[in-house]
Amino acid sequence: MFANRLRGIEDSIFGLMSALAAEYKAVNLGQGFPDFSGPDWLIEAFNKAMKDGKNQYAPPQGIHSLRKIISDTYLKFYECRIDPENEITITAGATEALFSTILALINPGDEVIIFEPFYDAYYSDIILAGGIPKFVTLHKPNFDFDFEELIIQVTPRTKAIIINNPHNPTGKVYSKNELEFIFETANKHNLYIVSDEVYEFLTYDNLKHISILNIDKHLTRSIMISSAGKTFSMTGWKIGWAIANPKISDAIRKVHQWTTFTVNTPGQHAVAFGFTKLDEYLPIFKEEYQYRRDLIYSELVKTKFTPHKPFGSYFIMVDIPTLEKDDIEIAKELTVDYKVATIPPSVFYRNSDEGKKMLRICFAKTPRTIIEGIENLKKYKA
Ligand code: PMP
Ligand code: GLN
Repeated sequence: MFANRLRGIEDSIFGLMSALAAEYKAVNLGQGFPDFSGPDWLIEAFNKAMKDGKNQYAPPQGIHSLRKIISDTYLKFYECRIDPENEITITAGATEALFSTILALINPGDEVIIFEPFYDAYYSDIILAGGIPKFVTLHKPNFDFDFEELIIQVTPRTKAIIINNPHNPTGKVYSKNELEFIFETANKHNLYIVSDEVYEFLTYDNLKHISILNIDKHLTRSIMISSAGKTFSMTGWKIGWAIANPKISDAIRKVHQWTTFTVNTPGQHAVAFGFTKLDEYLPIFKEEYQYRRDLIYSELVKTKFTPHKPFGSYFIMVDIPTLEKDDIEIAKELTVDYKVATIPPSVFYRNSDEGKKMLRICFAKTPRTIIEGIENLKKYKA
């Protein structure tokens, strides 16, 4: 009855766990979104844009001032020169940037390498494009990958490698050495690199985020994807972007124009304004998240769930304290009986069963919510 391409497409675990959390009135440390809004001055900028009449369609590639300030920002942070006219496309969140990019690059039968645990959209986008996902596991305890395991996955049908840095759900931050190896491999086999960097400004312990833009400075084969959702704590605004050389950008824009055509106009003006304030805003933002990361880690070590300290993103993985139940059973039990929702990460794995022994916890929450959620977790009897 429905299109074949829907085979293998499942309901997102994030929606499922948030619905369960709401049904059982559990503290929601599952789906990744802050339980607070971004700064008031940004909300005012959105309001002002609407009052100033910025309410009609924006150009499909996005408003110029937003593309320009992203280009200026990345020159400063990643020393990469990006042409705002032909190399940046504003999309409906990183989700649409990923979808438009994968649809623009992948033919039925093409293989795409992803690192597991993977962000679920990569898998579904590849399937929707008719592609074949191939997996390289990020192994505990540091969630590193074995270079040999990556090489083994490359075949004549491989078209692209997708990375997520900083990484959801493990909090891994890719090292320069790892990124250079991925770039070398892509060069050698003529592959695209899709680099999802939505947590680009969320690293801890003074660790520096290295973008694919630092490595592939001439944008030979990389597509860098990011979003305003995490950086400005406004995940519901859904404003993202894809950066790539003009040829690749042109292909992405071809899909984008028939997916959303263009993205909400006042939000683009607000985000452009937000970027002008980045120098003042980022230190506070980073300090607040460092505090949340330290708080959740120090609280989790007092529970039976052993945490793996994250160096980026706003997620933390914990080992579950029993071998008798898997992550899905425990995540349900915790939500229903202990009133704390998490994400069972086995859905982000295909090769390894490491996910069955862990849970993902989101700490983009006020200290009060974090403490309340972890107090509930402490009551867990294995
Ligand atoms: N990539 C990753 C790794 C994410 O965690 C998320 C959402 N949390 C997205 C993409 C989607 O971003 P957006 O909300 O901007 O579509
Ligand atoms: N990216 C968010 C997470 O990892 C969820 C986004 C979504 O629900 N699609 O939890």
